[in-house]
Amino acid sequence: MSKKDYYETLGVARNASDAELKKAYRKLAMKYHPDRNPDDKEAEAKFKEAKEAHEVLSDPQKRAAYDQFGHAGVDPSMAGGAGGFGGGASFSDIFGDVFGDIFGGGAGGPGGGSRAYRGADLRYTLELGLEDAVKGTDVRIRVPAAETCETCGGSGAKKGTSATTCQTCGGHGQVRMQQGFFSVQQTCPNCRGSGKVISNPCPDCHGSGRVQKTKTLSVKVPAGVDTGDQIRLAGEGEAGEHGGPAGDLYVQVKLKPHDIFKREDDDLYCEMPVSIATAALGGELMVPTLDGRASIKVPAGTQSEKLFRLKGKGVRNVRSGRVGDLYCRVSIETPVNLTDEQQQLVKQLEESLKKGGSKHNPREQSWLDKIKGFFA
Ligand SMILES: [Zn+2]
Ligand SMILES: [Zn+2]
Repeated sequence: MSKKDYYETLGVARNASDAELKKAYRKLAMKYHPDRNPDDKEAEAKFKEAKEAHEVLSDPQKRAAYDQFGHAGVDPSMAGGAGGFGGGASFSDIFGDVFGDIFGGGAGGPGGGSRAYRGADLRYTLELGLEDAVKGTDVRIRVPAAETCETCGGSGAKKGTSATTCQTCGGHGQVRMQQGFFSVQQTCPNCRGSGKVISNPCPDCHGSGRVQKTKTLSVKVPAGVDTGDQIRLAGEGEAGEHGGPAGDLYVQVKLKPHDIFKREDDDLYCEMPVSIATAALGGELMVPTLDGRASIKVPAGTQSEKLFRLKGKGVRNVRSGRVGDLYCRVSIETPVNLTDEQQQLVKQLEESLKKGGSKHNPREQSWLDKIKGFFA
């Protein structure tokens, strides 16, 4: 049996980074997850393919073996998770960085009878300012979601009527088909697996048992979250079908750019313009931190790019509690728009410095020496 190339399956280049692989796999997993495509064999096959490709390519040893020998290089029983997808692998398994099951009680997958389907998981991108992400906040969000129809209580049948047991499958949702020597179990074509037939559909939901609504939810954002973090609101996804459990809502955090600070994990960085005079003579500078002002003593002879660290003035990690630092990077500002008088003063300063030879500009002198050596 010829198998599709793992890189092709994930739609990535052969030199794709781990992050690119993960991203591609997530995308496919979201699309083809069996929870989202109940009874869709093709989607399930695609999901398994993507899972297998990701398992092999995310393991450096297996990936190297695959690159060299192709599918023969990786033991298939090691790859596909031996037995493949068994109804487990919920979304929370795929998104390992999900935390905070605020409402508790995760919903299960489709039941064994496969009549009641779990509702789809939903994603919501929450843009946050740096300060809110660092300190934590409560926000209210509005999300569109399919909810259980109140008119019929989710049954899909018109008020006063009820769904009747499907005659074709006797309510099992599955039918046995004889194919040659084999008897194959299939989803009932009459009721499409629900086991019930609605002869008088509910006018509000047209028999689906669900209606499209917008709901307002409050989300508790823990202090220290960063772009890429997710908060799971269990049971706040789409309503299930035929009485199945609701899916979950994943609130994905995305930080807005900040005017002063750049965040790198738990550390913050800012650029600190310093005048030539302060850099040469030394001085004290005020710098902003997330909890007020702080001052930095700049020693005489400070050069551009020098980093000053303010310990513990970064972000408290949402998981470990470790607190990062604030780094202020010196950027020496060359004065502009000089008056005649100022130009004269700078020239005088330059001449005076030159008299000292390499004493005052050691870097410039060593640079000139290197150039000489280069052309010699
Ligand atoms: Zn209804
Ligand atoms: Zn049926």
